[in-house]
Amino acid sequence: MIEVYQKENVICVEGTIESFGRKVFVYLVDGMLVDTGAEKLQKELIRFYKEHPMDLVTLTHSHEDHTGTAAWIQEHLNIPIYLHHKSIPLCEQPGNYPEYRKQTWGGRKAFRALPLPETIRSRTQEWTVIETPGHADDHVSFLNEKTGQLFSGDLFVAPKTKVIMDSESIPLIMASLRKLLKYDFDSLFCSHSGYFENGREMIEKKLQNLEKLTLKVQSMNREGLSVEEIKQKIFPLDYPIIGFSENQWDSRHVVTSIIEGEHQ
Ligand SMILES: [Zn+2]
Repeated sequence: MIEVYQKENVICVEGTIESFGRKVFVYLVDGMLVDTGAEKLQKELIRFYKEHPMDLVTLTHSHEDHTGTAAWIQEHLNIPIYLHHKSIPLCEQPGNYPEYRKQTWGGRKAFRALPLPETIRSRTQEWTVIETPGHADDHVSFLNEKTGQLFSGDLFVAPKTKVIMDSESIPLIMASLRKLLKYDFDSLFCSHSGYFENGREMIEKKLQNLEKLTLKVQSMNREGLSVEEIKQKIFPLDYPIIGFSENQWDSRHVVTSIIEGEHQ
């Protein structure tokens, strides 16, 4: 199911995968589509694409819930699709990722992307492409320095982090949040939690929470507690995604990435 509404000058497409209760957003601003949603939403997204002319697609990263309809767009609309150069070869092959992610979001057909330049132009606006790794190593954010609007992909998601994927890194996420805070921005468009008028505040809040969490983990680690013990103390709840993903998502990765980050 998709819902379409406008925030500021941005058309927000809020997609919900009903069977899993998961959300993913696609945004259209000034003829530029930011991310392409999940294949599971393709039928409805195609209807949206046909009603809303666009000139280019920019992708925040290559995960299947952001690139699920890129192949359709390429084949039917023939507009350029920009992606971090690291993932261009990966996306020229059909998506290869765990079954639980295919069940949730669907597949990701092969498509040909162009490397993201440092700044990208839509019809009338200019967007600074900011490398913000941590959630994924090909992750970027798009900032309009004139309007203060920021598209942050999967960097923000929630002010409090409880579970992450094994490929994510808390220290890198924190470095990226700090990098964003050096820029001037107000509103935030997140790919999983939507629009925030007070985006800057939300990013600051997330960073503060991660700083506190890091100090906690580091001090427990120094006291000699094991990863499992630290996890049990800080994250005692067993989130459904942990079992469903066979531990690709786990609170344990939050703990280990902080401990490993300290030794780097
Ligand atoms: Zn992602």
